[in-house]
Amino acid sequence: MERLVLPAFAKVNLTLDVGIKRPDGYHEVLSVMQTIDLWDTLYFEKVPQGITVSCPSPGVPSGPGNLVYRALELLASSFPGGLRVEVRKRIPVAAGLGGGSSDAAAALKAASFLYGLELSEEDLVSYAARIGSDVPFFIIGGTALARGRGEIITPLPEAFQLWLVLVNPGFGVSTKEVYSRYRLRGRKKKRTPALLTAIEQGDRRGFLDALGNDLEEVVLSLYPEVGFWKQRLIDLGAEKAVVSGSGPTVFGVFPGEEEAEKARAELSRENKLEVFLCKTVTREGIEQKTKQLMNTYQENIKGRGGCSEGV
Ligand code: ATP
Repeated sequence: MERLVLPAFAKVNLTLDVGIKRPDGYHEVLSVMQTIDLWDTLYFEKVPQGITVSCPSPGVPSGPGNLVYRALELLASSFPGGLRVEVRKRIPVAAGLGGGSSDAAAALKAASFLYGLELSEEDLVSYAARIGSDVPFFIIGGTALARGRGEIITPLPEAFQLWLVLVNPGFGVSTKEVYSRYRLRGRKKKRTPALLTAIEQGDRRGFLDALGNDLEEVVLSLYPEVGFWKQRLIDLGAEKAVVSGSGPTVFGVFPGEEEAEKARAELSRENKLEVFLCKTVTREGIEQKTKQLMNTYQENIKGRGGCSEGV
């Protein structure tokens, strides 16, 4: 196969417990991460040599600064030719949704597939960890527990199918800055064990109670408007509203699709906001979407000479 198209899905952190700073400068984290149905689309094409990565979105570098390039560089010595990649972003950038990390994970999978490298999931995870703490999660996807600096991943059974409304206030946040302002105050109760118990017991109330993020306090102190959107989501019927990762995106959990759609419509009227209605995605869901995208792409390029439009 010469060409491949892959979706790179976003995540939310259902919980994010941040612990002590380690000697390597990273904080210990414990987080339940969840794939959601918001995705970038990446087009890969084998070329005789070299790596080319283009991305037309503002705020995202083309070329070596792109995490996709870094991912392919790691594997470049294991394959004979080159790769050309086009990254079409839909996931807001520097938003706490892991878009760049997900693109990088998709690039590792694509290179392995197109050049028949036969890398196991374990191999891919270990390459992914060299790119960034969040990248290994995107090799696995679905619902998963992340430990260490976030790179040790254990798949979990699907939590609950959730209907979410995401509000992105339209500016990016530096993950590094948020972590640098985080202060661990004494011993505190972690949320993640309670979430794991609730998942195991199918306890939706306990699940909602356990959702939360230690970095939220820092994000809200830096950007008070995020607190405003969190409250708006609650006022519009969210059972819970939580900042994802290092923010600034905040997601509300709604009882069902109808309630979520109403809130999305209402919030979409607000200025400058990016609002998304999303549901959570399982590992099977990721596979299905990948196949569907590839089939549409193949139909599209028949007789069109590789045009990626319309997928
Ligand atoms: P994290 O929580 O993992 O830091 P995030 O969702 O907050 O992720 P990203 O959207 O991954 O943030 O972007 C972080 C930075 O990475 C941005 O400043 C962006 O310029 C850079 N970047 C490099 N490659 C990409 C890419 N393919 N997509 C998005 N951002 C990228």
